[in-house]
Amino acid sequence: MSDERGDALAIRLAAVRARIDEACAAAGRDPADVTLIAVTKFFPAGDVERLASLGVTNVGENRDQEAGAKITALPPEVRAGLTVHFIGQLQSNKAHHVADYADVVQSVDRTKIATALGRAAAARGRSLDVLAQIDLSGAAGRGGVDAADARSLADHIVEQEALRLRGVMAVAPLGADPAEAFARLAEVAAVIRADHPEACWLSAGMSGDLEQAVAAGATHLRVGSAILGSRPTAR
Ligand SMILES: *Cc1c(COP(=O)(O)O)cnc(C)c1O
Repeated sequence: MSDERGDALAIRLAAVRARIDEACAAAGRDPADVTLIAVTKFFPAGDVERLASLGVTNVGENRDQEAGAKITALPPEVRAGLTVHFIGQLQSNKAHHVADYADVVQSVDRTKIATALGRAAAARGRSLDVLAQIDLSGAAGRGGVDAADARSLADHIVEQEALRLRGVMAVAPLGADPAEAFARLAEVAAVIRADHPEACWLSAGMSGDLEQAVAAGATHLRVGSAILGSRPTAR
């Protein structure tokens, strides 16, 4: 049976993996140390299934309602093979819902969110991996904690028994030099790792800047459009 969409995804996924391999070779890094997260926001559960059949094991979603419906629509055997990352802005009243379907929450940027997520996960008998999202733009309101406040946020996350602090996440600011932005992120990551050695994930890099992220030491790349094509709605 032909599946044009599956073929298109396979071609783009292979191209992204080749870019990652090349970036790792240039940086002297092992591609096995870099996890590719396919960001499937705006695309249907069928695409998640296609990607899973192509060997994708990590997916990212950034809109709570869409993500919850999509992930619960997956056949159980497909869901069981995936690690689901929530990467979108989070309100504390949505924490309960996210704790239902996410395995990792990368966008924890306030103590209030960490408290709510910790309670929600505990109530479900789950434990969640979380990343502190760092704001690299210096402009408030774009998502992320100021680098100066990252340590105290990390300490607060660690106090939540149902949360495991795994590291930091950031988006390179629009118009900024991604290499410079990710170098600053790596500095914040090192400060947090000094206090919390288990927090060794560095989530950075998207379709347009994954090479710079690999060079800066990213362990997780969040790649959407380069794999799935352009999204129907701009974000
Ligand atoms: C959408 C999104 C991505 C993926 O962006 P692309 O440019 O499509 O690769 C990565 N990170 C976050 C936080 C996102 O919201």
